[in-house]
Amino acid sequence: MKPILFNFTDSELEKFITDMGQPKFRAKQIREWLSRGAPDFMSMKNIPENLRRDLDNMAQTMPVKIIKKLESADGETTKFLLELNDEEQIECVLMRTTYGNSVCVSSQAGCAMGCKFCASTLLGLKRNLTTNEIFAQVLTAQWELRNDKFSDKPIRPNGDANNGDVSHIVIMGTGEPLQNTENVIGFIERANSDLNIGWRRITVSTCGIVPGIERLIEWGRPINLAISLHAPTDELRSQIMPINNKYKLDSVLDAAWRFTDLHNRQLMIEYILLGRHDENGDMFLYNATPEYAEKLSELLRGKNCMVNLIPWNAVDERDFAAPSGNAVHRFQDTLIKNGIHTRIRRERGTDIGSACGQLRLNNARK
Ligand code: SAH
Repeated sequence: MKPILFNFTDSELEKFITDMGQPKFRAKQIREWLSRGAPDFMSMKNIPENLRRDLDNMAQTMPVKIIKKLESADGETTKFLLELNDEEQIECVLMRTTYGNSVCVSSQAGCAMGCKFCASTLLGLKRNLTTNEIFAQVLTAQWELRNDKFSDKPIRPNGDANNGDVSHIVIMGTGEPLQNTENVIGFIERANSDLNIGWRRITVSTCGIVPGIERLIEWGRPINLAISLHAPTDELRSQIMPINNKYKLDSVLDAAWRFTDLHNRQLMIEYILLGRHDENGDMFLYNATPEYAEKLSELLRGKNCMVNLIPWNAVDERDFAAPSGNAVHRFQDTLIKNGIHTRIRRERGTDIGSACGQLRLNNARK
């Protein structure tokens, strides 16, 4: 296995370069390229070509290698299938939005949570990602954005400067971030210090690991927290999310409110709308009935939160169905009538299998 220069400390990199008989300043130049996410040595324009070639034979630049890159037809979404040095695969998605450029990163290779509607957990958990492996996903997206200047892709300002850099991060890819809390915290600290991405532009999404939320409270940074709720009663939630047997709804929400109250933030609630087929093959609204919308309202009434309604992205192996647009709107209307802030998440990149672990799964099937 080739060494990954991105993972080297400055002095390790310097030693590696001087051992090759090269002057020290080359190490600095290479570091500069690595911190911009250079996917290969050939992109390092100020390094002599023969040295680039030698480096290419001896080493690898980043801890993630692009295996596949898919673009949505509207040019707004780019999805990467990335390979780690032990050949595990992960996904990362770049979304060019009107408010800036957002990257969705994975925190684990696979997932152990076993949610019944999700593709990412089907092959189980392989391992936690390192801080570098999470950070490298953002740099991969950043590198891509810098190349947008030479294409017909929309260039989105990041809000402060019109430089089209990554401005928002959501830790909502494959894996449960609060099962890998310390590396995720290390990653967020790094994104904040090295890329200047504000705490408030970083969102951690969890299925509800209470000790993990408590660790975030202790850590004290005012990031955004999203809870994957998906059901307003313990009975229903335990049927689709095994983690609910360990951490019940009340304890999850209690920890979440403590977090958002501390930072005076709005809690993001994710709620996938799921349908199901009965034994006659007829579709029924599983967690998406008006009654469940009432129950959800009771749970959230008077709280500072936003409910993101997510139409389910179909996964072949999973026995659910996406409810009709009408049913989705009826559910939303009930929440609005009860004074709950809510929006329907715009689907992005469904034409490129951007939804939730599908690219990784499809590649593993072959
Ligand atoms: N483990 C974390 C983060 C990863 S999942 C969590 O549970 O929050 C990110 C979001 O996508 C979660 O809300 C998850 O429930 C949702 N999700 C998973 N599979 C989905 C699917 N097929 N369609 C729509 N949303 C899905």
